[in-house]
Amino acid sequence: MTETMLDVKKLANYINGEWVDVEGETAPVINPATGETLLEVPLSDKTAVDHAVEAAKQAQKEWALVPAPQRAEILYEVGHIMKERKEKLAYLLTLENGKVLEEARGEVQEGIDMAFYMAGEGRRLFGQTTPSELQNKFAMSVRAPIGVVGIITPWNFPIAIATWKSFPAIVAGNAVVWKPATETPIMAYELAKIFEEAGLPKGVINVVFGSGSTVGDAMVHHEDIRVISFTGSNETGRNIAAECGRQLKKVSLEMGGKNAVIVMDDADLDLAVEGIIWSAFGTSGQRCTACSRVIVHEDVKETLEERLLHAMEQLTIGNGTDESVRVGPIINEAGINKIKKYIDIGKEEGAKLLAGGYEMTEGDYGKGYFFAPTLFTDATIDMRIAQEEIFGPVVSLIPVKSFEEAIEANNSVSYGLSSSIFTKDVNRVFKAQRDLDTGIVYVNAGTTGAEIHLPFGGTKGTGNGHRDSGVQALDVFTEWKAVYVDYSGKLQRAQIDTE
Ligand code: NAP
Repeated sequence: MTETMLDVKKLANYINGEWVDVEGETAPVINPATGETLLEVPLSDKTAVDHAVEAAKQAQKEWALVPAPQRAEILYEVGHIMKERKEKLAYLLTLENGKVLEEARGEVQEGIDMAFYMAGEGRRLFGQTTPSELQNKFAMSVRAPIGVVGIITPWNFPIAIATWKSFPAIVAGNAVVWKPATETPIMAYELAKIFEEAGLPKGVINVVFGSGSTVGDAMVHHEDIRVISFTGSNETGRNIAAECGRQLKKVSLEMGGKNAVIVMDDADLDLAVEGIIWSAFGTSGQRCTACSRVIVHEDVKETLEERLLHAMEQLTIGNGTDESVRVGPIINEAGINKIKKYIDIGKEEGAKLLAGGYEMTEGDYGKGYFFAPTLFTDATIDMRIAQEEIFGPVVSLIPVKSFEEAIEANNSVSYGLSSSIFTKDVNRVFKAQRDLDTGIVYVNAGTTGAEIHLPFGGTKGTGNGHRDSGVQALDVFTEWKAVYVDYSGKLQRAQIDTE
């Protein structure tokens, strides 16, 4: 695999089944491991959004009338092409995002799984039939598509998150306008090509490249986009929700996390260390579900620290295209600066730095954006490093005295995405899954590793009650319609003619 897999030097928007060249400003797409420019991405203006929405609006009318099992056939084809192209997609994903190849393959696989899962929904999309309170009357509920939906995705899972959103939207009979993150547009280009090859009718998916403040904002404000499905930062999500609220536009938000692994005194410590290392340092901690807190029972704190430090020493850091590397780069300089800021905050707050805490700049590291895996200990729940999302390879140990205190510590943050507990006590397992206030709970595993047929999302500041993936994703992209068929031949009034 080489960078020659990139078949263009500048990306074009995909609107109404055509590749539309965009004049004007572009941004370089930079390989975060090497600092090299991979290609240019156009920074479209609002008119591109208008064109995409118009194309989607027209296409959706026909698409909604295609029987769902036939719509699903296209998703099966998408899944097959992604499967054939998995290695290429994974490699390109590593080039633009930096995550190591093994994880990139996992992310592409998530998209493949989602394609086949949502294709299956084409033969389900279940509604309900239910008895009417009146004789000779039939009652049912059906899912109806909403129309044009807007999808705004982040750089950290450039293909998986797009599939979580676009596949359910499409199988349910909507048309899509998608704005990928400017940092990682290559996956969007590749996925649009796959849709085209799979035979998706023109205009059912449209990709507009450009900044959030221009293209994303225009989508949020466009009155013909009836749903916005957004994944990204809390701040952007809140602003989007406020505007959608003003327009009474449906909005699904998946935002940050401050996820914790709880390690109890009876835990299998070797297993806990494996889970923490994978969840804290995989994707260099740039996952919404990344473990950034370890809440540890004081009786095992020292042993856990020792074993974590030992495991961290074994981590190979570098370019994710090297199969031996376990931890890749940070996405960009702004990411590095944010992490550095939190290292200073952690030290000032009095947490003890056990390992890492610095940007790696020697040799080849200096060409990209690398940060040493970092471990703080003796953090307390009120510290900013224990409350705020850092989005880097930084984990803070918070010692506690009891199970109850551990649950309280987990729930002390404003986010509620993922949590995990390592224990062998079945009573604690069941209490924990009940009391941990997060949308995802893992027992004896780290905080990452969602499966696509389960709902993905979180409580509190992580979202606004919707879920990506799983059958629940369909709720974002459909309206429920109640249908009554009265075959009595006379006027029957509900609640009145029931006696
Ligand atoms: P971000 O800055 O909010 O960007 C996310 C997307 O929103 C990008 O496509 C961005 O465009 C766009 N955007 C920015 N400003 C916008 C605006 N005013 N209107 C409309 N769209 C706008 O987030 P990020 O830093 O890229 O992503 C990291 C965050 O995502 C973290 O907080 C992470 O926890 C969260 N995340 C959450 C989940 C989850 O499911 N809970 C999953 C993954 C990531 P441009 O960047 O192109 O300008």
